Amino acid sequence: MLRPFPTVPVVSASGVELQLADGRMLVDGMSSWWAAIHGYNVPELNAALKGQIDTMSHVMFGGLSHEPAAELARRLIEITAEPLQHLFLADSGSISVEVAIKMALQYWFAQGRGEKRRLLTVRGGYHGDTFGTMALCDPENGMHTLFGSVLSEHLFAPRPECRNDDEWDDSHLFELVRLLKENHKQIAAVILEPIVQGAGGMHFYCPEYLRQMRALCDEYQVLLILDEIATGFGRSGTLFAYEQAGIVPDILTLGKALTGGTMTLAATLTTRAVAEGIAADGSGVLMHGPTFMGNPLACAVANASIDLLLASPWQKRVSAIASQLTAELAECASYHCVADVRIKGAIGVVELKKPVDMGWIQPRLVELGVWIRPFGRLLYVMPPYVITSEQLSRLTSAMVQVVRELEGR
Ligand SMILES: *Cc1c(COP(=O)(O)O)cnc(C)c1O
Repeated sequence: MLRPFPTVPVVSASGVELQLADGRMLVDGMSSWWAAIHGYNVPELNAALKGQIDTMSHVMFGGLSHEPAAELARRLIEITAEPLQHLFLADSGSISVEVAIKMALQYWFAQGRGEKRRLLTVRGGYHGDTFGTMALCDPENGMHTLFGSVLSEHLFAPRPECRNDDEWDDSHLFELVRLLKENHKQIAAVILEPIVQGAGGMHFYCPEYLRQMRALCDEYQVLLILDEIATGFGRSGTLFAYEQAGIVPDILTLGKALTGGTMTLAATLTTRAVAEGIAADGSGVLMHGPTFMGNPLACAVANASIDLLLASPWQKRVSAIASQLTAELAECASYHCVADVRIKGAIGVVELKKPVDMGWIQPRLVELGVWIRPFGRLLYVMPPYVITSEQLSRLTSAMVQVVRELEGR
């Protein structure tokens, strides 16, 4: 018999709180999967949506262009690294990764190097749920093992293992270098999430790994794709996580917080060299064109979200969240059932030794007045940046409480 876990009905959301159908309020620890960085029902974002809806909700983006998209392109080019000068507006994170893969393949094809069509990635990654992106997710701990036999076969290096630059050791790269040496003639690009691996395990690694990766990609003539769909827009402490390594990718994907959690939209940015390289195949265009590409409503609210973020003291907020998470989750590390406690920017992770019983923990967390959605062995939060310290304490004390109770179970 089909017995799905019960869902929790929500009727409205405002600030950092979700109101349930039975009137209870939950403090939100998830930002609706990294997206709602400003919280909910945000006047500036609502105004942008309402303003745009009366002008033009949508119009096809083939042969036509419009100001909301042009403005968004200008903003994204402005706030990302200088070499990233071209972009494609996609309708979801997974699609922006598909577009990144196409860019890389089409680039090498146009250079007369059509044999470069495999990808290299690292274990523990997550890049989306479509068939192209599933093939890049961790082959074991992902939710896609069922589909393994029909996916493209890419190359997997071990998960990046250094926590900070002080622990750097060249042995972290041996397997990666071997894979590049043996296969670089077939490899179009390396793809990975910078600094923070999200849904593949909430794992953090050191910037030096990325610097080494950039140098290896140049040495072996392989493009570097960074997937910042989860980390983009301040979550890890810098506006983009790649800034912590001082490197620039050839292709960058953004999504999730791009519209402040209001509408689905994503972007794939690239350098002039790659964009011009693609045009060299004679077609002059990237072979992709979704129906809702560049949706004006989504672009208008993305513009408002970026403006709101940049006008806010987001660095201070993220580092205050980091300090408070560090202090208030520390107790968790003393329990037997806990394998690790780690904090990076506005992300707090308690890794347990065994997978959690969702049938028990989810209703228990709701009872404690918080919305936190664990998966596997991970109990984690990435709250909206506007969370108050009292609200954040509600989240951390609920986490500590369930860990105490797990210890006794
Ligand atoms: C969420 C996510 C995606 C997929 O984005 P969707 O909008 O869910 O398709 C891809 N890469 C990373 C790193 C993500 O966190």
